[in-house]
Amino acid sequence: MSFDSLGLSAEILRAVEEQGYREPTPIQRQAIPVVLQGRDLMASAQTGTGKTAGFTLPLLNMLSHTNAQFKGRRPVRALILTPTRELAAQIGENVQAYSKYLTLRSMVVFGGVSINPQMLKLRGGVDVLIATPGRLLDLEHQRAVDLSQVEILVLDEADRMLDMGFIHDIRRVLAKLPAKRQNLLFSATFSDEIKGLASKLLTNPASVEVARRNTASEQIDQTVHFVDKKRKRELLSQMIGEGDWKQVLVFNRTKHGANHLAEQLNKDGITAAAIHGNKSQGARTRALADFKAGSVRVLVATDIAARGLDIDMLPHVVNYELPNVPEDYVHRIGRTGRAEATGEAVSLVCVDEHKLLRDIERLLKREIPRVALPGYEPDPSIKAEPIINGRQGSGGGGGRGAPRQGQRPGAPRTGAPRSGAPRPGGSSAARSGTSENRGTGENRPARARPAHAGQRRSGPAGSGNK
Ligand code: AMP
Repeated sequence: MSFDSLGLSAEILRAVEEQGYREPTPIQRQAIPVVLQGRDLMASAQTGTGKTAGFTLPLLNMLSHTNAQFKGRRPVRALILTPTRELAAQIGENVQAYSKYLTLRSMVVFGGVSINPQMLKLRGGVDVLIATPGRLLDLEHQRAVDLSQVEILVLDEADRMLDMGFIHDIRRVLAKLPAKRQNLLFSATFSDEIKGLASKLLTNPASVEVARRNTASEQIDQTVHFVDKKRKRELLSQMIGEGDWKQVLVFNRTKHGANHLAEQLNKDGITAAAIHGNKSQGARTRALADFKAGSVRVLVATDIAARGLDIDMLPHVVNYELPNVPEDYVHRIGRTGRAEATGEAVSLVCVDEHKLLRDIERLLKREIPRVALPGYEPDPSIKAEPIINGRQGSGGGGGRGAPRQGQRPGAPRTGAPRSGAPRPGGSSAARSGTSENRGTGENRPARARPAHAGQRRSGPAGSGNK
């Protein structure tokens, strides 16, 4: 199937062709005709499926048809809400590219940067506004933006917006919009909370689902290596070096851990930068640009910061630490194997993380293949330590001694799980002494995510250091 048959204008088709897209992805095939009909849409699509073009292409098509009616200062007619600055910037770039041959104006607004240039630019009139909720409300409060003529509302990565505590901001934004409008809701997962929001927001929506719920892409080669926490950095450096990995996205649970690991890798002679919510917007943009350009080999990220990063055909994702929230595993590895590319996702799992691994495998409904790495066998005398709010006392850095002879991270798979390795539902994983908390959003930690049943909460809500 080609893009030509979807009902998009010649100007948009030309821009799409210039992007090098040969045919629409499944989400695009399903979503574009529905949106062009003016219907509300509830779409379940993971990042990497081409969902952004799935809503931006028809949205631009519709706005460009009625564009001539608007003289003088242009009102915001399409509003795209996103959880993070990076995702907003990414969508903004896509909108720019796809609307290259249209006369529509688009703009991205998010917090963490000065509001004045945004106010100034809005004065000139904008057709498509891509925004994070907090900054949008600030602008609205200062009467810099009028949302009363919005025709199309998109909530992108709605699950993450709720996780980050944006529900109140979203409700405030909705109150500023006209009652009659088209609504598009995109979410990777569909919790009861999302369904509740959808039932209030959407009218007779078409429903589109491209990846099975909470399942990781088949295009991603996933493996688990059991390794002691103190030897993870040594193993990672070795994998990158021996595998000659050129572009690796590494996930840490905490900002501090991300900084520390990036420093350590640089000391090992592997160029690395950290990206997380304590970094200025300039530093985040620079780190991402250097990573994309290849001058930084490793980007060490927290979950929230990594959300929305779009790096074409990222070959390697490493879970240096497993996420507290199993769904984040799916989001993390979704950074590789994007669109039509294949990728590799490696998880370095220490004894403290066995329960986290079990939760992830329960969500995936399958076991992630274990790969035994000779020379890195975990020390059975090390006892599990609790992970609280994503943090642990002793941190994960610092290799222990020189690499042992004969150790080869790229060694062939044994296939068989190692002794002591957790299996889905297996007893060895159920280390009941471990307590984890879900972390909180880092941009606006308005509230903690709900804890798993049976988890102990030992810190104040919102104190996560993601
Ligand atoms: P998204 O899921 O929207 O984050 O898109 C993931 C990646 O797929 C982006 O790098 C897009 O540029 C790319 N992409 C989107 N649509 C297509 C397509 N039809 N063919 C190939 N790549 C695409």
